[in-house]
Amino acid sequence: GSNAEKFEFQAEVSRLMTIIINSLYNNKDIFLRELISNASDALDKIRFLSLTDKEVLGEGDDTKLEIQIKLDKKNKVISIRDRGIGMTKEDLIKNLGTIAKSGTSAFVEKMQTGGDLNLIGQFGVGFYSVYLIADYVEVISKHNDDKQYVLYLWESNADRAFTISEDTYNEPLGRGTEIRLHLKKEAGEYLEESKLKELVKKYSEFINFPIYLWASKEVDVEVPVEDDDSTNDEVEDEDEDKQSTYGEEKEDEDEEKPRTKTIKETIYEWECLNDVKAIWLRSPKKVTEEEYTKFYSSLAKNFDEEKPMAWSHFNAEGDVEFKAVLFVPSKAPTDLYENYHTANRSNLKLYVRRVFISDEFKELLPKYLMFLMGLVDSDTLPLNVSREMLQQHDGLKTIKKKLIRKALDMIRKLAEQDPDDNDKNEVEESKKNDEKRGQYAKFWNEFGKSVKLGIVQDATNRNRLAKLLRFETTKSGSKLTSLDQYISRMKSGQKDIFYITGSNKQQLEKSPFLERLRKKNYEVIFFKEPVDEYVMQYLMEYEGKKFQNVSKEGLKLAQEFDDKEIKDSFKELTKWWKETLASENVDDVTISNRLADTPCVVVTSKYGWSANMEMIMQSQTL
Ligand code: ADP
Ligand code: MG
Repeated sequence: GSNAEKFEFQAEVSRLMTIIINSLYNNKDIFLRELISNASDALDKIRFLSLTDKEVLGEGDDTKLEIQIKLDKKNKVISIRDRGIGMTKEDLIKNLGTIAKSGTSAFVEKMQTGGDLNLIGQFGVGFYSVYLIADYVEVISKHNDDKQYVLYLWESNADRAFTISEDTYNEPLGRGTEIRLHLKKEAGEYLEESKLKELVKKYSEFINFPIYLWASKEVDVEVPVEDDDSTNDEVEDEDEDKQSTYGEEKEDEDEEKPRTKTIKETIYEWECLNDVKAIWLRSPKKVTEEEYTKFYSSLAKNFDEEKPMAWSHFNAEGDVEFKAVLFVPSKAPTDLYENYHTANRSNLKLYVRRVFISDEFKELLPKYLMFLMGLVDSDTLPLNVSREMLQQHDGLKTIKKKLIRKALDMIRKLAEQDPDDNDKNEVEESKKNDEKRGQYAKFWNEFGKSVKLGIVQDATNRNRLAKLLRFETTKSGSKLTSLDQYISRMKSGQKDIFYITGSNKQQLEKSPFLERLRKKNYEVIFFKEPVDEYVMQYLMEYEGKKFQNVSKEGLKLAQEFDDKEIKDSFKELTKWWKETLASENVDDVTISNRLADTPCVVVTSKYGWSANMEMIMQSQTL
C-alpha cells in the first residue's frame, strides 16, 4: 500500500534467504511443518495468557485455538492462519528480518559446507524455509496487545528487503497471523490437497492444536428433476390418482422417484488433519515404537528419522501426579558442554493439564541431565498462577526427584540390555539383544561426560551414577568396563580400586606406576579426561571399596617380603636422599613395593592434587 515502509534484511538473514531461495534441496516439504510449528507456538502463548486472563481469548472466531490451511489454486497461493498471539509491527520487523537469531550464522555456515537444510528449525530460522517453495510471501498479523484494530502486512520477495504496511486491503482477520505463500512455478504440487494432508500426517502429527484444511469433498445431493415434458407430468399425476386407491406406501415410492435424482457435487469444508489426543496421555502399552520415534523427531526438530537411543514413558502417582515421556537423543548436540554452568537450555516441556507452560523450566532436571528430551504434564500443579509462582511450587521438587530416578533407570536399562556391555553369561543370547549390541558404548560416547558431571553434582544419586561409569583398564583392551565388572575381577586380598589419571592411554600404559601392579596382575583403571579428576574427588568409594590413585602415596599391595628388613638396610640412603632433596619440595623419601624395574619414582601426597590435576589446573589458568 501507500503507507509502506521498506527495511533491509540483516546481512546474515539476507545470506540465508539467498541460499534458501536458490536451493536445489529436494525436500522442500519442510516449509509446512515450520509454519505449523510457529503457529502452534503462537497458540501456546495465547493459551498460556488466557490461564490468568480469560478475556484475552476474545470472542467469536478468535476463541478458536486452531490452525487453518487454505489453497487457492487459481492464484497459486497457500495460506496458513492461526489465532495465536500475533505480531505487532515491531515484532514483524524484528522477528522476520532485522534481528538475526544466534543460530543464523551457524546455519549459514552449515549450509555452505553441505549441511542438511532439514535441520533449519533447530537453528531458530525455520520461517525462512518458505522461500523454498514461494518467491513472494505475505505475513498479515494482529497482535493481542494491539487494541486498535490494525493489521500489519509484512511482504518480501526475498530480495534483500521487506516492506511493512498497514493492511487495509485484506478483510478483517481478527487476532493472529496469516501467512500467504505465492508459489514458485515449479512448486505446483503443493496446491494438491492430498500433498498437504500427507505432509501434516508426516511432520505435524503431534501438534496439540487441530489443523484444518479447507478441503473439497464429493457428496451426493438430491436434486429435483427438471421436467421438460408437461404431458408426461399429467400422465404421472393420473397414475398417482389411480394408485392412491391401493394404499399409501406405494403412493410414496412413486411420488419420490420421478421428482428428484442424486448427483455428485464438490463442496468445501474444514477437514481436521491431525488427531489431537496427546501421545503422553495414552497408555504406554498402546504406543508403538514408530510413534515414539516420530514424537521424538517432532520434539527434537530432527527429521532425519534417527531413532532416539531410549525412552521412558510413565505415569507418576502420589502427592504430585504427572505423566512424562523422556528420551535419550540419538546424538549429543555439539555445544552440549559449552557454557555448561551458565546455560539455560532445557529440552523438557512442561504442561499443566495439557496446556503448554514453558520449555525453560530449569527446575525440572539437574544440569547434568539437560541432554534429555521430553515432556512432563501434571494435573496437580496449579494452572492459574504466574510462571514465577509456578517455578517456586513445591511440586516441582517432587517431579524433579522422580524424573531423575526414571532417567537413571532408563540409562541403566540401556546397559543391561546390551550384550556387549555385559559378561557373556549374564545375558541370555536371544535375537532381540542383537539389535541392542553396542548401544551402551554409543550412549557412553555421546553422554558419558554427563554421567561424570552427575557424580560431581548429585550426591543423592552418586552411587546410581557410579554404576553407569565406563572406562578402559590395563586389562580391558579397547572394551569398556564398569566398576561392578572391575570389582568382580579383583584379586583376593585386594582392598582398593586402583586407577591412574592422565591425558592419553598410550602414555598411561608406559607409566612406571603400573610396573609392579602389572607384574602382580592387578587391574588399573585409566582415567583420561580432566573431569575424571573431579569425579575422583567426589566418588571416594564404591560398594565399600576405596579408590586409590596409583601415583599417589598410600598404595598398599599385598606383602611379599619383609618390609622392615629392607627399610633398615636402606636407611642411610633414604636419609641422604631426603636431605639432598629438601630444597625441592619433597616431603619424604621412602622404600616402597610399588615399582618393578624403575629404580625410583615421584609420588604425590595422599590429599594433594595428582600430577595430572596440577597440569589441568595450570592449563585452566593460562
Ligand atoms: P523460531 O520459531 O525457532 O523462533 P522461526 O524462524 O520459525 O524461528 O520464527 C521466527 C519468529 O517469528 C518466531 O520466534 C516468532 O516470534 C515469529 N513468528 C513466526 N511465525 C509466527 C506466528 N504464526 N505467530 C506469531 N509469531 C510468529
Ligand atoms: Mg519456528
